[in-house]
Amino acid sequence: MNIKPLKIILIIGDGMGDRPVKELNNRTPLEVANTPNLDELAKQGVTGIVDVISPGIPPGSAPAHLALLGYDPIKNYTGRGAFEAIGMGLSLNMGDVAFRCNFATVTDDWVVIDRRAGRYVSEGPVFEKVLNSLKLRSAANVKIIFKHSIEHRGALVLRGPGLSNLVSNTDPGKNGLKVLEAKPLSNDEASIRTAKIINEFTLKSFEVLKDHPANKDRVSRGLLPANIVLCRGAGVLPHVKSIKEKLNLKATCIAGVPLIKGICKALGFTVLNVKGATGGLNSDLKAKAKAAISVINEVDFIVINVKGTDVASHDGLVKEKVRMIERIDEMVGIILNHIDLDSLCISVTADHVTPLSYRDHVGDPTPILISAPTIVPDDVKEFNERSVLKGGIGRIKGVDLMPLLLNYSLRSKKFGE
Ligand code: ZN
Ligand code: ZN
Repeated sequence: MNIKPLKIILIIGDGMGDRPVKELNNRTPLEVANTPNLDELAKQGVTGIVDVISPGIPPGSAPAHLALLGYDPIKNYTGRGAFEAIGMGLSLNMGDVAFRCNFATVTDDWVVIDRRAGRYVSEGPVFEKVLNSLKLRSAANVKIIFKHSIEHRGALVLRGPGLSNLVSNTDPGKNGLKVLEAKPLSNDEASIRTAKIINEFTLKSFEVLKDHPANKDRVSRGLLPANIVLCRGAGVLPHVKSIKEKLNLKATCIAGVPLIKGICKALGFTVLNVKGATGGLNSDLKAKAKAAISVINEVDFIVINVKGTDVASHDGLVKEKVRMIERIDEMVGIILNHIDLDSLCISVTADHVTPLSYRDHVGDPTPILISAPTIVPDDVKEFNERSVLKGGIGRIKGVDLMPLLLNYSLRSKKFGE
């Protein structure tokens, strides 16, 4: 009998699940898309639905990925900023507090004209230097580390004793509103101090950026000045066991966006930097498939995130979402053609449902399939929100997924004697 453990591949179509779409005759993008490979996997395997966090709770992508990778999101989600920062290549220590940041354009009295400063801030590296040399009165013993990533985005890390991630955002989240004051979300000294530091950082960022020559140059070229840094998503690294310690898996992550890369790094995955994997609608999914094929012999578990489905959903782009799903199917096809299926347990799901009609995450369960030679298939022959309702997995929570995958891949430990 072959008891060699199977390799595991988990494919997460970000926000891939949907609701009936008017423009698609009340079918969902997954129902309309041409997905021969996903349908074949559904036919050979079992299907069902996942309450990624809990029934009816709309998941953020970060806690959703924690859950799907086997980590209780309620206990282990400690804010998004830390994941974003390490996903951008900053190294974080335990206790560092990190924020997601935007260069934005504000009026003199801090009403937000564009919270993305026109989206393209090629002067980012210049501004980064200025921000890293700021001296803050409220931040004695605290090191300020700012890093620009792409477009208008960046991350801020506060390093030092007595800091907290329990502070609110300065980013109001919408144009036309005033920049918010960061508030402590708890009454302890660390939260009060961290809020003070963020407020002083925000003020100083405005002071050094508003008259910066690079911004004057932007204005002369008809661009919006990037005259302030807005912060949100305060986070610290979670105290968790690595995926190797926890599930005995040598794991690799293939993703385009810093958030997912950062989560996986924090959980001890190796993270591949795949050329062309952008996290956008233009992402090179064939390159992702090839990357997976190239490392499968060296690892036990590969997770692949495709962000484009969520991007299309937030922007209400019906055709683009359908096409993105078809491109995920093509990616799966390449993987299936190059990996020995007798030694593979493959699962496809979404981290949350992002309906095109709602343009944000909702608490509906996500569709899932698992296919492996060890599985007794159910009668479901297509992969979409409707068909999987009849599937053999039934309804599970996000944290139940890894135990199922470990079981079908012959990697589970027996409970009791
Ligand atoms: Zn997501
Ligand atoms: Zn989203």
